[in-house]
Amino acid sequence: MTAPDAAGLRRRTQELLAAHPPATTGRTAFLRARFDAGLAWVHYPAGLGGLDAPRSLQPVVDAGLAAAGAPDNDPRRIGIGLGMAAPTLLGFGTDEQKQRFLRPLWTGEEVWCQLFSEPGAGSDLAALGTRAVRDGEDWVVDGQKVWTSSAHLARWAILIARTDPDVPKHRGISYFICDMTDPGVEVRPLRQITGEAEFNEVFLTGVRIPDNRRLGPVGEGWKVAQTTLMNERVSIGGARVPREGGMIGPVVRTWRERPELRTHDLHQRLLTLWVEAEVARLTGTRLRQQLVAGQPGPEGSGMKLAFARLNQEISGLEVELLGEEGLLYGEWTMRRPELVDFTGRDAGYRYLRSKGNSIEGGTSEVLLNIVAERVLGLPAEPRTDKDVAWKDLAR
Ligand SMILES: Cc1cc2nc3c(=O)[nH]c(=O)nc-3n(C[C@H](O)[C@H](O)[C@H](O)COP(=O)(O)OP(=O)(O)OC[C@H]3O[C@@H](n4cnc5c(N)ncnc54)[C@H](O)[C@@H]3O)c2cc1C
Repeated sequence: MTAPDAAGLRRRTQELLAAHPPATTGRTAFLRARFDAGLAWVHYPAGLGGLDAPRSLQPVVDAGLAAAGAPDNDPRRIGIGLGMAAPTLLGFGTDEQKQRFLRPLWTGEEVWCQLFSEPGAGSDLAALGTRAVRDGEDWVVDGQKVWTSSAHLARWAILIARTDPDVPKHRGISYFICDMTDPGVEVRPLRQITGEAEFNEVFLTGVRIPDNRRLGPVGEGWKVAQTTLMNERVSIGGARVPREGGMIGPVVRTWRERPELRTHDLHQRLLTLWVEAEVARLTGTRLRQQLVAGQPGPEGSGMKLAFARLNQEISGLEVELLGEEGLLYGEWTMRRPELVDFTGRDAGYRYLRSKGNSIEGGTSEVLLNIVAERVLGLPAEPRTDKDVAWKDLAR
Protein backbone atom coordinates (compact mmCIF):
# COMPACT_ATOMS: atom_id res chain seq x y z
CA MET A 1 0.00 0.00 0.00
CA THR A 2 1.38 3.43 -0.89
CA ALA A 3 1.17 6.04 1.86
CA PRO A 4 -1.62 8.58 1.29
CA ASP A 5 -0.88 12.25 0.61
CA ALA A 6 -2.83 15.18 2.09
CA ALA A 7 -5.73 14.74 -0.32
CA GLY A 8 -5.89 11.01 0.44
CA LEU A 9 -5.97 11.70 4.17
CA ARG A 10 -8.73 14.28 3.73
CA ARG A 11 -10.78 11.71 1.83
CA ARG A 12 -10.22 9.00 4.45
CA THR A 13 -11.17 11.46 7.20
CA GLN A 14 -14.47 12.20 5.47
CA GLU A 15 -15.10 8.47 4.98
CA LEU A 16 -14.53 7.87 8.70
CA LEU A 17 -16.94 10.67 9.59
CA ALA A 18 -19.57 9.31 7.19
CA ALA A 19 -19.33 5.78 8.56
CA HIS A 20 -19.23 6.89 12.23
CA PRO A 21 -21.02 10.24 12.59
CA PRO A 22 -19.71 11.83 15.83
CA ALA A 23 -23.22 12.97 16.78
CA THR A 24 -24.51 9.41 16.97
CA THR A 25 -21.37 7.41 17.74
CA GLY A 26 -20.10 6.88 21.30
CA ARG A 27 -16.73 8.42 22.15
CA THR A 28 -14.80 5.16 22.58
CA ALA A 29 -16.41 3.59 19.52
CA PHE A 30 -15.40 6.62 17.44
CA LEU A 31 -11.81 6.59 18.72
CA ARG A 32 -11.48 2.86 18.03
CA ALA A 33 -12.82 3.35 14.52
CA ARG A 34 -10.36 6.21 13.98
CA PHE A 35 -7.49 4.00 15.11
CA ASP A 36 -8.61 1.17 12.84
CA ALA A 37 -8.84 3.59 9.90
CA GLY A 38 -5.17 4.48 10.38
CA LEU A 39 -6.00 8.06 11.32
CA ALA A 40 -4.84 7.95 14.95
CA TRP A 41 -1.16 8.78 14.32
CA VAL A 42 -0.76 8.72 10.56
CA HIS A 43 3.01 8.12 10.66
CA TYR A 44 2.58 4.79 12.52
CA PRO A 45 2.50 1.59 10.47
CA ALA A 46 -0.72 0.42 8.82
CA GLY A 47 -2.63 -1.86 11.21
CA LEU A 48 -1.21 -0.03 14.25
CA GLY A 49 -3.24 3.16 14.06
CA GLY A 50 -1.39 4.69 11.12
CA LEU A 51 -0.89 4.62 7.37
CA ASP A 52 2.91 5.07 7.08
CA ALA A 53 2.19 8.66 6.01
CA PRO A 54 4.48 11.59 6.84
CA ARG A 55 4.02 12.77 10.42
CA SER A 56 3.73 16.34 9.15
CA LEU A 57 0.32 15.43 7.64
CA GLN A 58 -1.32 14.64 10.99
CA PRO A 59 -2.79 18.18 11.25
CA VAL A 60 -4.77 17.51 8.04
CA VAL A 61 -6.66 14.72 9.84
CA ASP A 62 -6.92 16.56 13.17
CA ALA A 63 -8.36 19.69 11.55
CA GLY A 64 -10.95 17.72 9.55
CA LEU A 65 -12.11 15.83 12.64
CA ALA A 66 -12.18 18.92 14.87
CA ALA A 67 -14.26 20.80 12.31
CA ALA A 68 -16.82 17.97 12.40
CA GLY A 69 -16.98 18.02 16.21
CA ALA A 70 -15.38 14.59 16.58
CA PRO A 71 -14.06 13.65 20.05
CA ASP A 72 -10.30 13.53 20.60
CA ASN A 73 -8.42 11.13 22.87
CA ASP A 74 -7.73 13.84 25.49
CA PRO A 75 -3.96 13.72 24.93
CA ARG A 76 -3.09 15.61 28.12
CA ARG A 77 -4.67 12.84 30.22
CA ILE A 78 -2.67 10.09 28.54
CA GLY A 79 0.58 11.95 27.89
CA ILE A 80 2.90 9.24 29.26
CA GLY A 81 1.27 6.59 27.09
CA LEU A 82 1.26 8.67 23.93
CA GLY A 83 4.54 10.50 24.37
CA MET A 84 6.70 7.83 25.95
CA ALA A 85 5.28 4.29 26.08
CA ALA A 86 4.02 4.27 22.49
CA PRO A 87 7.29 5.22 20.73
CA THR A 88 9.14 2.71 22.90
CA LEU A 89 6.63 -0.05 22.08
CA LEU A 90 6.90 0.84 18.41
CA GLY A 91 10.69 0.75 18.49
CA PHE A 92 11.23 -2.35 20.62
CA GLY A 93 7.93 -4.23 21.02
CA THR A 94 7.15 -7.59 19.46
CA ASP A 95 4.28 -7.72 16.96
CA GLU A 96 2.12 -9.27 19.67
CA GLN A 97 2.93 -6.48 22.14
CA LYS A 98 2.20 -3.75 19.58
CA GLN A 99 -1.14 -5.36 18.69
CA ARG A 100 -2.14 -5.76 22.32
CA PHE A 101 -1.13 -2.40 23.73
CA LEU A 102 -1.17 0.40 21.15
CA ARG A 103 -4.91 0.61 20.42
CA PRO A 104 -6.25 1.00 24.01
CA LEU A 105 -3.25 3.23 24.77
CA TRP A 106 -4.16 5.59 21.97
CA THR A 107 -7.92 5.61 22.65
CA GLY A 108 -7.22 6.34 26.33
CA GLU A 109 -9.02 3.21 27.51
CA GLU A 110 -5.77 2.21 29.24
CA VAL A 111 -3.67 4.83 31.03
CA TRP A 112 0.11 4.33 31.35
CA CYS A 113 2.63 5.48 33.93
CA GLN A 114 6.42 5.41 34.15
CA LEU A 115 8.16 3.39 36.88
CA PHE A 116 11.72 4.68 36.44
CA SER A 117 12.84 6.96 39.33
CA GLU A 118 13.71 5.51 42.72
CA PRO A 119 14.60 7.10 46.06
CA GLY A 120 18.30 6.48 45.27
CA ALA A 121 18.17 6.84 41.47
CA GLY A 122 16.80 9.95 39.75
CA SER A 123 19.41 11.88 37.79
CA ASP A 124 21.65 8.84 38.10
CA LEU A 125 18.85 6.59 36.89
CA ALA A 126 21.18 3.76 35.86
CA ALA A 127 22.01 3.22 39.55
CA LEU A 128 18.49 1.86 40.15
CA GLY A 129 18.09 -1.03 42.59
CA THR A 130 14.66 -2.54 41.87
CA ARG A 131 15.41 -6.20 41.14
CA ALA A 132 13.84 -8.50 38.59
CA VAL A 133 14.78 -12.15 39.03
CA ARG A 134 13.90 -14.82 36.48
CA ASP A 135 11.60 -17.60 37.74
CA GLY A 136 10.47 -19.98 34.99
CA GLU A 137 8.44 -18.02 32.41
CA ASP A 138 8.12 -15.02 34.76
CA TRP A 139 10.26 -12.33 36.32
CA VAL A 140 9.73 -11.58 40.01
CA VAL A 141 10.12 -7.88 40.78
CA ASP A 142 10.90 -6.28 44.15
CA GLY A 143 11.73 -2.66 44.87
CA GLN A 144 10.43 0.88 45.26
CA LYS A 145 9.74 3.57 42.69
CA VAL A 146 8.97 7.21 43.41
CA TRP A 147 7.47 10.35 41.82
CA THR A 148 5.30 8.14 39.63
CA SER A 149 2.84 10.47 37.92
CA SER A 150 -0.62 8.98 37.30
CA ALA A 151 0.21 5.63 38.93
CA HIS A 152 -3.18 5.82 40.68
CA LEU A 153 -4.94 6.02 37.31
CA ALA A 154 -2.73 3.66 35.34
CA ARG A 155 -3.50 0.20 34.10
CA TRP A 156 0.04 -0.34 32.71
CA ALA A 157 3.52 0.92 33.51
CA ILE A 158 6.80 1.04 31.68
CA LEU A 159 9.27 -0.30 34.21
CA ILE A 160 13.04 -0.62 34.34
CA ALA A 161 14.63 -3.05 36.80
CA ARG A 162 18.00 -4.63 37.47
CA THR A 163 18.33 -8.12 36.08
CA ASP A 164 22.10 -8.49 36.52
CA PRO A 165 23.88 -6.86 39.49
CA ASP A 166 27.25 -8.33 38.47
CA VAL A 167 27.88 -6.07 35.48
CA PRO A 168 28.36 -2.25 35.31
CA LYS A 169 25.18 -0.35 36.08
CA HIS A 170 24.11 0.54 32.53
CA ARG A 171 24.43 -3.05 31.31
CA GLY A 172 22.40 -5.01 33.88
CA ILE A 173 19.00 -3.36 33.35
CA SER A 174 15.96 -4.78 31.53
CA TYR A 175 12.74 -3.07 30.46
CA PHE A 176 9.27 -4.45 31.26
CA ILE A 177 5.59 -3.71 30.95
CA CYS A 178 4.05 -3.96 34.42
CA ASP A 179 0.35 -4.57 35.08
CA MET A 180 -0.55 -2.02 37.78
CA THR A 181 -3.51 -4.18 38.90
CA ASP A 182 -1.30 -7.19 39.70
CA PRO A 183 -0.90 -8.39 43.31
CA GLY A 184 2.18 -6.85 44.94
CA VAL A 185 1.79 -3.41 43.31
CA GLU A 186 0.99 -0.81 45.98
CA VAL A 187 0.43 2.85 45.06
CA ARG A 188 0.59 5.60 47.73
CA PRO A 189 -0.03 9.29 47.06
CA LEU A 190 2.76 11.88 47.49
CA ARG A 191 1.50 15.37 48.25
CA GLN A 192 3.15 18.22 46.38
CA ILE A 193 3.81 21.92 47.03
CA THR A 194 0.52 22.66 45.21
CA GLY A 195 -1.40 20.66 47.84
CA GLU A 196 -2.32 18.02 45.29
CA ALA A 197 -0.98 14.54 44.66
CA GLU A 198 -0.38 14.02 40.95
CA PHE A 199 2.31 11.55 41.69
CA ASN A 200 2.93 8.59 43.96
CA GLU A 201 5.39 6.22 45.46
CA VAL A 202 4.98 2.68 44.20
CA PHE A 203 6.06 -0.40 46.12
CA LEU A 204 6.65 -3.59 44.16
CA THR A 205 6.66 -6.76 46.25
CA GLY A 206 7.01 -10.13 44.52
CA VAL A 207 5.28 -8.81 41.39
CA ARG A 208 5.25 -11.49 38.68
CA ILE A 209 5.75 -10.23 35.14
CA PRO A 210 5.61 -12.80 32.33
CA ASP A 211 8.68 -12.80 30.10
CA ASN A 212 6.50 -11.93 27.10
CA ARG A 213 6.04 -8.50 28.70
CA ARG A 214 9.74 -7.70 28.47
CA LEU A 215 10.56 -4.94 25.96
CA GLY A 216 13.86 -5.52 24.17
CA PRO A 217 16.62 -8.01 25.06
CA VAL A 218 17.57 -8.95 28.63
CA GLY A 219 20.27 -6.57 29.88
CA GLU A 220 19.60 -3.95 27.19
CA GLY A 221 16.93 -2.03 29.05
CA TRP A 222 19.10 1.07 29.29
CA LYS A 223 19.16 1.39 25.51
CA VAL A 224 15.37 0.95 25.38
CA ALA A 225 14.97 3.52 28.17
CA GLN A 226 16.93 6.09 26.12
CA THR A 227 14.13 6.06 23.56
CA THR A 228 11.60 6.69 26.33
CA LEU A 229 13.65 9.49 27.91
CA MET A 230 14.37 11.32 24.65
CA ASN A 231 10.70 11.20 23.78
CA GLU A 232 9.79 12.36 27.31
CA ARG A 233 11.81 15.55 26.87
CA VAL A 234 10.20 16.24 23.54
CA SER A 235 6.72 15.61 24.89
CA ILE A 236 7.30 17.89 27.91
CA GLY A 237 9.20 20.67 26.15
CA GLY A 238 8.07 20.42 22.55
CA ALA A 239 4.28 20.19 22.83
CA ARG A 240 2.32 21.89 20.04
CA VAL A 241 0.91 25.22 21.31
CA PRO A 242 -0.72 28.11 19.47
CA ARG A 243 0.79 31.61 19.69
CA GLU A 244 0.16 32.94 23.22
CA GLY A 245 -0.75 29.40 24.26
CA GLY A 246 0.88 27.82 27.32
CA MET A 247 2.09 29.86 30.27
CA ILE A 248 2.42 33.22 28.48
CA GLY A 249 -1.31 33.30 27.59
CA PRO A 250 -2.83 34.12 31.00
CA VAL A 251 -0.23 36.86 31.76
CA VAL A 252 -0.78 38.57 28.43
CA ARG A 253 -4.55 38.42 28.96
CA THR A 254 -4.24 40.00 32.42
CA TRP A 255 -1.93 42.67 30.96
CA ARG A 256 -4.45 43.58 28.27
CA GLU A 257 -7.55 43.45 30.45
CA ARG A 258 -6.20 45.21 33.56
CA PRO A 259 -4.24 48.34 32.59
CA GLU A 260 -4.18 49.52 36.23
CA LEU A 261 -1.61 46.79 37.01
CA ARG A 262 0.92 47.86 34.38
CA THR A 263 4.34 49.33 35.15
CA HIS A 264 7.19 50.25 32.77
CA ASP A 265 9.53 47.66 34.30
CA LEU A 266 7.00 44.83 34.01
CA HIS A 267 6.28 45.90 30.43
CA GLN A 268 9.92 45.43 29.41
CA ARG A 269 10.13 42.03 31.09
CA LEU A 270 6.85 40.86 29.64
CA LEU A 271 7.96 41.85 26.13
CA THR A 272 11.21 39.92 26.52
CA LEU A 273 9.40 36.83 27.83
CA TRP A 274 6.76 37.05 25.10
CA VAL A 275 9.50 36.99 22.45
CA GLU A 276 11.30 34.12 24.17
CA ALA A 277 8.06 32.14 24.45
CA GLU A 278 7.42 32.68 20.76
CA VAL A 279 10.97 31.59 19.86
CA ALA A 280 10.50 28.46 22.01
CA ARG A 281 7.19 27.75 20.30
CA LEU A 282 8.70 28.05 16.82
CA THR A 283 11.72 25.97 17.85
CA GLY A 284 9.26 23.31 19.02
CA THR A 285 7.63 23.36 15.59
CA ARG A 286 11.04 22.87 13.97
CA LEU A 287 11.86 20.05 16.37
CA ARG A 288 8.65 18.25 15.50
CA GLN A 289 9.51 18.62 11.81
CA GLN A 290 12.91 17.05 12.49
CA LEU A 291 11.17 14.18 14.21
CA VAL A 292 9.60 13.30 10.88
CA ALA A 293 13.08 12.29 9.81
CA GLY A 294 13.75 10.00 12.79
CA GLN A 295 14.26 9.75 16.51
CA PRO A 296 14.53 12.87 18.68
CA GLY A 297 18.12 13.82 19.46
CA PRO A 298 19.63 16.02 22.17
CA GLU A 299 17.61 18.97 20.77
CA GLY A 300 14.76 17.68 22.97
CA SER A 301 16.92 18.40 26.02
CA GLY A 302 17.44 21.99 24.88
CA MET A 303 13.70 22.48 24.39
CA LYS A 304 12.88 21.03 27.78
CA LEU A 305 15.47 23.31 29.43
CA ALA A 306 13.94 26.38 27.79
CA PHE A 307 10.41 25.26 28.67
CA ALA A 308 11.26 24.94 32.39
CA ARG A 309 13.09 28.28 32.61
CA LEU A 310 10.39 30.15 30.73
CA ASN A 311 7.52 28.64 32.72
CA GLN A 312 9.18 29.64 35.98
CA GLU A 313 10.03 33.17 34.84
CA ILE A 314 6.63 33.80 33.28
CA SER A 315 4.65 32.49 36.25
CA GLY A 316 6.87 34.58 38.57
CA LEU A 317 6.11 37.68 36.51
CA GLU A 318 2.40 36.90 36.64
CA VAL A 319 2.41 36.73 40.45
CA GLU A 320 4.30 40.05 40.57
CA LEU A 321 1.90 41.66 38.13
CA LEU A 322 -1.11 40.66 40.25
CA GLY A 323 0.50 42.00 43.45
CA GLU A 324 -1.25 40.88 46.66
CA GLU A 325 -3.91 39.15 44.62
CA GLY A 326 -1.20 36.96 43.12
CA LEU A 327 -0.32 35.65 46.57
CA LEU A 328 -3.80 34.26 47.17
CA TYR A 329 -4.03 30.53 46.63
CA GLY A 330 -7.48 29.14 45.83
CA GLU A 331 -7.85 26.04 47.91
CA TRP A 332 -4.89 24.11 49.22
CA THR A 333 -6.81 20.87 49.24
CA MET A 334 -5.54 17.38 48.66
CA ARG A 335 -6.78 16.37 45.23
CA ARG A 336 -5.81 13.63 42.80
CA PRO A 337 -5.97 15.51 39.49
CA GLU A 338 -6.27 13.55 36.26
CA LEU A 339 -4.02 15.96 34.41
CA VAL A 340 -1.75 18.96 34.84
CA ASP A 341 -3.71 21.98 33.66
CA PHE A 342 -1.62 25.13 33.69
CA THR A 343 -4.04 27.43 31.95
CA GLY A 344 -7.31 26.61 33.70
CA ARG A 345 -5.94 27.44 37.18
CA ASP A 346 -4.98 30.53 39.17
CA ALA A 347 -1.61 32.30 39.10
CA GLY A 348 -0.47 30.78 42.41
CA TYR A 349 -0.97 27.27 41.08
CA ARG A 350 1.05 28.05 37.94
CA TYR A 351 3.83 29.56 40.04
CA LEU A 352 4.07 26.57 42.39
CA ARG A 353 3.55 23.81 39.82
CA SER A 354 6.14 25.18 37.42
CA LYS A 355 8.83 24.63 40.08
CA GLY A 356 8.60 20.94 39.18
CA ASN A 357 9.29 21.66 35.51
CA SER A 358 13.03 21.92 36.11
CA ILE A 359 13.03 18.53 37.87
CA GLU A 360 10.60 16.26 35.97
CA GLY A 361 11.88 14.54 32.83
CA GLY A 362 15.50 15.25 33.83
CA THR A 363 16.68 18.19 35.96
CA SER A 364 17.91 21.34 34.24
CA GLU A 365 21.43 20.74 35.55
CA VAL A 366 21.53 17.27 34.02
CA LEU A 367 20.08 18.51 30.73
CA LEU A 368 22.78 21.21 30.63
CA ASN A 369 25.33 18.41 30.92
CA ILE A 370 23.71 16.61 27.97
CA VAL A 371 23.69 19.76 25.83
CA ALA A 372 27.32 20.48 26.80
CA GLU A 373 28.49 16.99 25.87
CA ARG A 374 26.32 16.01 22.94
CA VAL A 375 25.54 19.34 21.27
CA LEU A 376 28.57 21.49 22.08
CA GLY A 377 31.07 18.60 22.18
CA LEU A 378 32.57 19.73 25.51
CA PRO A 379 34.50 17.18 27.61
CA ALA A 380 32.29 14.68 29.46
CA GLU A 381 31.95 14.67 33.24
CA PRO A 382 34.48 12.30 34.81
CA ARG A 383 32.83 8.89 35.41
CA THR A 384 34.47 6.54 37.83
CA ASP A 385 31.76 3.88 37.86
CA LYS A 386 31.70 2.89 34.19
CA ASP A 387 33.55 -0.38 34.56
CA VAL A 388 32.50 -1.32 38.09
CA ALA A 389 29.85 -4.00 38.72
CA TRP A 390 26.62 -2.41 40.08
CA LYS A 391 26.78 -4.58 43.22
CA ASP A 392 30.20 -3.08 44.09
CA LEU A 393 29.14 0.57 43.76
CA ALA A 394 28.90 2.69 46.92
CA ARG A 395 25.23 3.40 47.67
C1 LIG B 1 6.32 16.70 38.75
C2 LIG B 1 7.22 15.51 38.63
C3 LIG B 1 6.75 14.37 37.99
C4 LIG B 1 7.58 13.24 37.88
N1 LIG B 1 7.07 12.12 37.29
C5 LIG B 1 7.83 10.99 37.22
C6 LIG B 1 7.29 9.77 36.69
O1 LIG B 1 6.13 9.72 36.29
N2 LIG B 1 8.07 8.67 36.67
C7 LIG B 1 9.37 8.69 37.11
O2 LIG B 1 10.02 7.66 37.02
N3 LIG B 1 9.92 9.82 37.65
C8 LIG B 1 9.17 10.97 37.71
N4 LIG B 1 9.70 12.13 38.26
C9 LIG B 1 11.04 12.07 38.83
C10 LIG B 1 12.11 12.85 38.09
O3 LIG B 1 12.48 12.23 36.89
C11 LIG B 1 13.31 12.97 39.06
O4 LIG B 1 12.86 13.73 40.16
C12 LIG B 1 14.50 13.63 38.42
O5 LIG B 1 15.09 12.81 37.46
C13 LIG B 1 15.55 14.04 39.47
O6 LIG B 1 15.89 12.98 40.28
P1 LIG B 1 15.92 13.14 41.87
O7 LIG B 1 14.60 13.72 42.30
O8 LIG B 1 16.31 11.83 42.44
O9 LIG B 1 17.03 14.21 42.19
P2 LIG B 1 18.61 13.97 42.26
O10 LIG B 1 19.04 13.18 41.08
O11 LIG B 1 18.95 13.43 43.60
O12 LIG B 1 19.17 15.43 42.09
C14 LIG B 1 19.29 16.35 43.21
C15 LIG B 1 19.97 17.61 42.69
O13 LIG B 1 21.32 17.30 42.26
C16 LIG B 1 21.52 17.75 40.92
N5 LIG B 1 22.38 16.82 40.19
C17 LIG B 1 22.30 15.46 40.19
N6 LIG B 1 23.23 14.94 39.36
C18 LIG B 1 23.90 15.98 38.82
C19 LIG B 1 24.98 16.08 37.89
N7 LIG B 1 25.55 14.98 37.33
N8 LIG B 1 25.41 17.31 37.54
C20 LIG B 1 24.85 18.43 38.07
N9 LIG B 1 23.82 18.39 38.99
C21 LIG B 1 23.37 17.19 39.34
C22 LIG B 1 20.14 17.79 40.30
O14 LIG B 1 20.06 18.67 39.20
C23 LIG B 1 19.28 18.24 41.48
O15 LIG B 1 19.31 19.63 41.61
C24 LIG B 1 8.90 13.26 38.40
C25 LIG B 1 9.37 14.42 39.02
C26 LIG B 1 8.55 15.53 39.15
C27 LIG B 1 9.07 16.76 39.85
